Amino acid sequence: MNPLTVGSVVARAGASVSGFITVPEGVDPGSRIPVTVATGAHDGPVLALVAGTHGSEPSPILALQRVRAGLDPAVLSGTVILVHVANLPSFAHRTIYRGPHDGKNLNRVFPGRPDGTASERIAHAITTQVIEPCDALVDMHSGDGNEALRPYSYWNKLGLSDDVDARARDMALAFGLDHIVIDRGRPRDAAASVFCSNTAHVRGKPAVTTEAGEAGVPTEEMVALNARGAFRVMRHLGMLAGPREMVAQPHWIEPSEVLVSPGTGTWQPAVRPGQRLGKGAPFGRLTDYFGELVAEVRSPLEGEVLYVVVSPAMAEGEPVGMVGVVS
Ligand SMILES: [Zn+2]
Repeated sequence: MNPLTVGSVVARAGASVSGFITVPEGVDPGSRIPVTVATGAHDGPVLALVAGTHGSEPSPILALQRVRAGLDPAVLSGTVILVHVANLPSFAHRTIYRGPHDGKNLNRVFPGRPDGTASERIAHAITTQVIEPCDALVDMHSGDGNEALRPYSYWNKLGLSDDVDARARDMALAFGLDHIVIDRGRPRDAAASVFCSNTAHVRGKPAVTTEAGEAGVPTEEMVALNARGAFRVMRHLGMLAGPREMVAQPHWIEPSEVLVSPGTGTWQPAVRPGQRLGKGAPFGRLTDYFGELVAEVRSPLEGEVLYVVVSPAMAEGEPVGMVGVVS
C-alpha cells in the first residue's frame, strides 16, 4: 500500500511528519496549508482535525499545536491528520468570516473548485487531500474575532445514513462540549456540501463541528478544552488507550436560530453568551453612525444565547448572534 501523502507530507509509520499543502495561484494569490500527519505504529482509522477554517478563531489553532506536541505515534492506532490553519490568508490578514483575496467564507464554498477563487481552491485542496482520505473529521471553530460564545457543538443529523449520523452524535458526545445543537438543515448534495464537516458527512464519514473559544483571543481554558476534546475523540475511536469519556448529560438544542441584522450601522448587544432569554426579550440594538436607533433585535425563541456579536461594526443581513432552545 502506498503511504498516505498530504501535500508535501509523506506519512511514515510510527512518526509525525509536518509540511504544507500548496494551494496554487489562480485568479488570485495562492496559499499554503500547514499540516501534520501522525501515523500510528498500529492500524486504525484516519481522523482529520481541522482548525482555522476561519482565521480569527485561534483557540483551536493553538490547541492543535499542543496536540501535535502531545501525540506519540508509538502508542497511536491509525492516523491523525492535523490541519493547523486551513485558511492561512484569513489568519495572516486577521480577517473574520471571509478570506482577504476573494471576500468568500471558506466554510460556505465546500467542496471547492480547483479553478475557483482563493477560498474555493483551499476548500478543494482540503476536500481532496484531507477529507477524501479520512474516516472521521472534526472541524474546530470558536467564536470569530467579533463573537462572544459559550462552547457548543453541532450534531449534523443529515438523514442520509442513520449509522453515520449516530457515529457523528457519539463523536460530539466524546469531544465533550455538553451543549449540542441538532442541525438537520445541511445540504445532502456531495457536489454542493457547502460546509467543511458536511463535506465529510455526505461522503459517509462522521463529522462534527465544534465551537470553543471566543472573540479572536485564545485563552488557556479554551485552548486546553479544544486539545482535550481532540484526545477524547481519539480515545473514543480506539486510536489511543484510556477511558472513553462521553458527555453524561448532554443539553440538546433544537430549534436554534441565527439572528441577523435588519440594517447597517453600529451594533450594541444586550445579552451575554449562556444567558437565558424569554421570547421577545431584547437581544441588542442597531443605531446609525450618529447614535440614532435604527432597530431593536429581539429573541425569536425562549432559549439560551449561544453566541453574540460584541463589536459594533454591522451590516444588513450579517449575524448578530444565535439563540437555541435547550432541552
Ligand atoms: Zn468559524
